[in-house]
Amino acid sequence: MCQVTISTYEFLKLFPDEETARIHLEQRRWNGTPACPQCGCTDKQYKQARGGKKGYYRCTHCKIVYTVRTGTIFERSHVPLHKWLYAIYLLATTRKGVSSLQLSKEIGITQKSSWFMLQRIREACQKDNDDSGGGFLSGIVEIDETYIGGKEANKHEKKKQKARRGTVGKMAVIGMQQRAGKLKASSLANTSARTIHAAVASVVAPSAILCTETICPTEGCRSIITKPSITARSSMLTAWPHQQYRKRVRGLEA
Ligand SMILES: [Zn+2]
Repeated sequence: MCQVTISTYEFLKLFPDEETARIHLEQRRWNGTPACPQCGCTDKQYKQARGGKKGYYRCTHCKIVYTVRTGTIFERSHVPLHKWLYAIYLLATTRKGVSSLQLSKEIGITQKSSWFMLQRIREACQKDNDDSGGGFLSGIVEIDETYIGGKEANKHEKKKQKARRGTVGKMAVIGMQQRAGKLKASSLANTSARTIHAAVASVVAPSAILCTETICPTEGCRSIITKPSITARSSMLTAWPHQQYRKRVRGLEA
């Protein structure tokens, strides 16, 4: 993967208009030989006249007319390709990401269009080659929760909640990771069993095996291996639950 970052000035020089962006994408996608997105054929693909518009091709086998946008995130969008590329560039280079409002101002489109573009780009980035779970985490899934929040010492006197330790004023976050695969995290309104189970159900496939110390084993349809707690792990006297846990996980992986 190319790791070189170019400046905005260089980017705009590379892709000043739709035509340069189209030629670049055609080269990246087809390497000079257009291929039908429906049948995959590369022979007998002819350019199609469309009232002076360039970039239309016709497959003589399945009789469809297509462009470099067909079958990609750019399909059925009226936003010019160089603006799409600039949106991807912004999303990839800005440290804190881009909001739809910011993007709409940057490239001169409506916020509705920019929101749609960002959705498509983010979805494309999330797609993984290993999608055996149909978009859900599958196989062995490790789950844990934590609390994230500012230090009391850094807060204004009025906002301090006078809680020395614990979870007061912090947000609960649950992280779920497929073994050697994707990681998903989401915030929780509370840490009740019902909320946690709902968060898991929205992300993890029903057939997955959960490894956790977070979820109580009342959730019917899933196989759950309960991890020993940290205190049990650190204690010599209660080290065996962790060993048992590791044995069970190794058995599943074998
Ligand atoms: Zn075809």
